[in-house]
Amino acid sequence: MFHKDGAGDAAFRTEVRSWLSENLPKGLRGRTARPRRAELMPWYQALSRRGWIAPHWPKDHGGMGATLAQQIILQEELARLSAPQLPVQGVNHLGPILIKYGTPEQKAQHLPKIISGDVIWAQGYSEPGAGSDLASLTTRAEDQGDHFLVNGVKIWQTWGQYADWMFMLVRTDSAATPKHAGISFMLVDLKTPGITVRPIVNIADDDEFAQMFLDDVVVPKENLVGPLNGGWKVANDLLAHERLGTSSPQWSLEVVARIEKLAAANGLIDDPVFQDKLAALKIAITAQAAMFWHAVGIIAGGRPLGPDSSTMKLVGTDNLQAATELLIEVSGVHGADTERLDADGEPIDVTQIFLQSRRATIYGGSSEIQRNVLAKRVLGLPG
Ligand SMILES: Cc1cc2nc3c(=O)[nH]c(=O)nc-3n(C[C@H](O)[C@H](O)[C@H](O)COP(=O)(O)OP(=O)(O)OC[C@H]3O[C@@H](n4cnc5c(N)ncnc54)[C@H](O)[C@@H]3O)c2cc1C
Repeated sequence: MFHKDGAGDAAFRTEVRSWLSENLPKGLRGRTARPRRAELMPWYQALSRRGWIAPHWPKDHGGMGATLAQQIILQEELARLSAPQLPVQGVNHLGPILIKYGTPEQKAQHLPKIISGDVIWAQGYSEPGAGSDLASLTTRAEDQGDHFLVNGVKIWQTWGQYADWMFMLVRTDSAATPKHAGISFMLVDLKTPGITVRPIVNIADDDEFAQMFLDDVVVPKENLVGPLNGGWKVANDLLAHERLGTSSPQWSLEVVARIEKLAAANGLIDDPVFQDKLAALKIAITAQAAMFWHAVGIIAGGRPLGPDSSTMKLVGTDNLQAATELLIEVSGVHGADTERLDADGEPIDVTQIFLQSRRATIYGGSSEIQRNVLAKRVLGLPG
């Protein structure tokens, strides 16, 4: 969007475009919900075998060590074919954290299986009584000498019912003040006895997440990541990666492409009032894309993102929801239909897309919480 490919990059784009068009299964293109594990993971593994599953990871950890331009090209080309959303908890969230904080044994055990797609990860942060106020979490891990004994309940784990392992935040010191000084970050094999997983269906009728009950679960000491009671810093580093991932312009651009198809099919594309709205949306997404790739450049340069990740998440998810609202508007009287709408032969699932976007201003920390972060850390307002 903001760059012209240099000679090497143009060749890379051609290679990516032709490989994707030959290898991305037609049935996986343009999906509004993430397909189930059995259907999706062969595609993840195909990308992995091609060496493109972790463009942002260094080569010595099994990543592609891609330049910023190559990362942009890969994402743009995947978006061009409306590639499905992959499980990102391992490759985008945990991977960079293990590379930074993990022991050599943890890296050797877990990083290759994230790359290969053999192990799916869930994120165990939220609890029924601890979402926005994450530091008040009560799942506790008691030190039993050679292991921790974990008891508590986690909720809203994306793909929890398909996951093999979970990274989680647990309370290891209940007397600590402030509360976050008593939290640790650990890894748990979800096959460990004492774990019960209950899938939850979302507003779009998609069983995308799960609740986890942990009763006397034995977690080996070597599964602690970072220092004991030092999990808060690890957790927040991970959240910065998560927020950046949710602010990719890819999601909004895909909705814009559908708006344009529907508007062309029903003639609204010639309406000047509609044109104004579409232009305003595209300008906002273009500005978001500039910010997004600037932020990716900061991370690629090894620098921390800081509160910019909150700005990115706010802007990205606001634009996504604005786009889905315009999608409903362009659908006119059919905006509430549960059947797919026809845009000159292409079926478009308007209500699914709209409903699936509602969650975006909640996960990874709600919009209100991002505004609080910016008020405190950027504007210096009292907390
Ligand atoms: C689709 C989806 C996937 C998710 N995946 C995961 C996952 O994989 N792993 C995981 O651990 N969690 C996950 N979550 C949970 C998510 O992180 C929490 O839902 C989120 O942090 C909000 O917490 P809560 O639901 O407990 O809401 P609450 O914290 O109870 O908040 C309720 C409302 O009050 C507002 N509010 C709360 N405190 C304040 C405040 N101080 N100032 C202003 N407003 C406030 C919030 O913005 C929100 O609107 C997921 C959530 C969704 C929707």
